[in-house]
This record gives sequence, structure tokens and C-alpha cells, in this order.
Amino acid sequence: CGIVGYIGENDSKEILLKGLERLEYRGYDSAGIALHTDEGVTVLKEKGRIADLRKVVDSSLLSKAGIGHTRWATHGIPDQKNAHPHQSTSGRFSLVHNGVIENYHHLQRDYLQNVSMKSDTDTEVIVQLVEKFVEDGLTTEMAFSHTLSLLHGSYAIAMLDAEEADIIFVAKNKSPLLLGVGENFNVVVSDAMAMLQVTNQFVELHDKEMVLVRKEAVTIKTLDGTQIERAPYTAELDM
Ligand code: GLU
Repeated sequence: CGIVGYIGENDSKEILLKGLERLEYRGYDSAGIALHTDEGVTVLKEKGRIADLRKVVDSSLLSKAGIGHTRWATHGIPDQKNAHPHQSTSGRFSLVHNGVIENYHHLQRDYLQNVSMKSDTDTEVIVQLVEKFVEDGLTTEMAFSHTLSLLHGSYAIAMLDAEEADIIFVAKNKSPLLLGVGENFNVVVSDAMAMLQVTNQFVELHDKEMVLVRKEAVTIKTLDGTQIERAPYTAELDM
């Protein structure tokens, strides 16, 4: 239902939790965050309210990059294992998704027969495919764009790679997603509302684009790798 992401100099977890709270009005059944820390990526997720998620977030966790999600279940009941972020088998990749992957059954059958799935969602195939293609020898960026090229349906996606702490991988097709840009930080949001407290400069994304979001730059590409330049606009919404 909602996505937030932050990469920069500040502690991401409070920015993500506040961002998710600003999306609560849209409705959701569960929520979660994934944080890059010195020890890799930590995923925390709960069925229920952001207030329930806050209870399991250790306030001493320090993280300068992370992603968050509020879920409105379409595939798989609302429970803890089906809440996002979803992780690949090894735990290296963590991913949040809004939308519906229409061909997830086919993708599972064609590529992931040997992978035991941890959830009942359509979303998990995305993160398991990225891991599979990385194991096959692709870079994370190549595995991400190859995975996207196989998906049918709607998606707004943000993904962390535990081995690349300086990037959030982002993509969009037929589900809303925006970049928010700032000085020495950048954010990703499904709704500008979620991050108006940190920036009013947003960059729109088009369908079938992917983005490498770093704290000092955002790189937008089409799935075939062509780089796109797009200027930010100033959001003038009431806070
Ligand atoms: N289809 C996904 C799920 O059921 C994402 C739902 C959403 O957009 O929140 O988990």
C-alpha cells in the first residue's frame, strides 16, 4: 500500500517510521522496515499498526539507509510472515513492493523450483529471482533489471543489498513512486506526503524505469540501461 525509503547522513529508522505514519490514513494491515546497519540488514515487521512495529524497533539501532512498507494484502493473509520487507533465502536482499505480480506462479515454476518460499505473497518471487540471478553471476543491478523485465503486473519496489550499503534499488510500473531529493540525502516515496517533512523537491518516475538511489545522487535508467535526466519539481502540498 505504501513505500518509504531513506539514504543519507541521519538515522533512517525514525524518518522511515514517521513516513509510514503519514501514510497510515491510506489503510493497511501490517508494516515493516529493513535497515542497513554495521552488521548487515535488519528486517523488522509486524501485523497491525505502526505503533506495534515501533515496539519491536530497538532504539539503539543505527542506520543511514533503509526502506519501509505498509501492506494491504492481495496475495497471502495479513500476518507477520507475509508482511514486507521480504528477504531472499540467504538474507542478502530485502525488498518492499506495492502492487500485484500477475505471473508470479509462472516465474516460481520456471526459475525457483529449488527455492523454498517463506511467504504466500506474489512479492517474494521478486526478491528470490534477484538472488537467483546474482548466484548465476550477474551484478545486483543487472539481476534487478533482468528480474524487472520478467514481471507482469503492477509494482513500486525498493530493495536493499546487504553487500552494497550505499544504494537503494528502486523501480516502478503502474504503481505510484517518486524520488525526493535533498542535500546529502535522498528518499523514495509512494506518496509525497510521507516525506514532506524532509524535502519538498521531488522527481517523478515513469513506468518501467529503475533507479539507483545514493545519498549524493539518483541515477534513473530504463530497463535496457539508457540513463535519463529529469529535473525535480517543488511540491506545494499542505502539511
Ligand atoms: N501484492 C503484495 C502483497 O500482497 C503487495 C500488496 C501491497 O500493495 O501492499 O503482499
